[in-house]
Amino acid sequence: MIKSRAAVCHEAGRPMTIETIDVAPPKAGEVLIEIMATGVCHTDAVIFWGINRNSPLPAVLGHEGAGIVREVGEGVATVRPGDHVVPLYGAECGECLHCRSGRTNICWATRKTRDQGILPEGSSRFSLDGRTIHHFMGTSTFSRYTVVPEVAVARVREDLPFEQVCLLGCGVTTGVGAALRDTREGDTVAVFGLGGVGVNLVQGARLAGAARIIGIDPNPMKRALAIKFGATDLLDPHALGPRLTEAILDLTGGGVDVSFESSGEPSAMRSAFESCRLGWGTCVLLGVEPEGSEIGVRPVMLRYGRTLKGSYFGGVKGRSELGRYADMLAEGKIRVDNLVTHLLPIDEVNRAFDMMRSGDSLRTVLLHG
Ligand SMILES: [Zn+2]
Ligand SMILES: [Zn+2]
Repeated sequence: MIKSRAAVCHEAGRPMTIETIDVAPPKAGEVLIEIMATGVCHTDAVIFWGINRNSPLPAVLGHEGAGIVREVGEGVATVRPGDHVVPLYGAECGECLHCRSGRTNICWATRKTRDQGILPEGSSRFSLDGRTIHHFMGTSTFSRYTVVPEVAVARVREDLPFEQVCLLGCGVTTGVGAALRDTREGDTVAVFGLGGVGVNLVQGARLAGAARIIGIDPNPMKRALAIKFGATDLLDPHALGPRLTEAILDLTGGGVDVSFESSGEPSAMRSAFESCRLGWGTCVLLGVEPEGSEIGVRPVMLRYGRTLKGSYFGGVKGRSELGRYADMLAEGKIRVDNLVTHLLPIDEVNRAFDMMRSGDSLRTVLLHG
């Protein structure tokens, strides 16, 4: 058992508290990681603020981290102490039906226990004064020490700063990966929502050779930042109101080749789909909607050749593909210097979420230690 400082979310809607929790050693097939840096992502806020109550609390949140392997359990063969790693909320076991299909990056191996806030073995490694604290998304990067299954650990090169490489754990990979997958050279692309994932969709579309990238967000600071990532046109959805879709159709002479939605706002999802060009326009949903939301889709839009689909972690297989994203980061193809607006100690975790809510930050990275 080791002691670890961690931000603990005891109850949705109440501030997190910094505690010294107990972390049990890794069991067979598990890895103990010392997290050095962790991003603060909207999916943590969805639980923290109580928008979605499906994750068991108390828990250690955080799913966008990077650190160093400190100990491995029995049978762990693919990483060893000292390795720099990114814990993955989407495992890659390599053996399940999904992993073997060659059609998806969504592995089902750890999903069930992960969503119950425990490890696949059936229990949690975290406790506080003898009381169980749950894992979150199988990662729990708001704890300095965390235990994750080996199948959910991606090894990365060691020459990158942790406050940058941690972003590969969610926002950067999700945005850049999704954009690279569906954007063709010369395309006109629309990106709805210019937060941590949105600006990475913009830079992914730029990397893929998009000719025109329309950024859509009500926050003027976020619109201004999107230009630095490659946005060529900007629209304010609040100013346009119900005329947003029409404005995009006008601007593009009939619709975009690809649209991406990262805000999780159902009305934006519908607009993203209806902004696609007939014949081949493709809409990709990434943002997490409020529980129980639905969107209306007119079948004729689909019959005329448009595609509506979603993307999970940018379609990227974490263990086998994250190394390539780390290379792009090291080579300067993926830029994160304008993305991280705040670097704070873990103690200021609540302030980081306040700034996310107020729109004052794009991405905050918290440092342990
Ligand atoms: Zn995230
Ligand atoms: Zn699998």
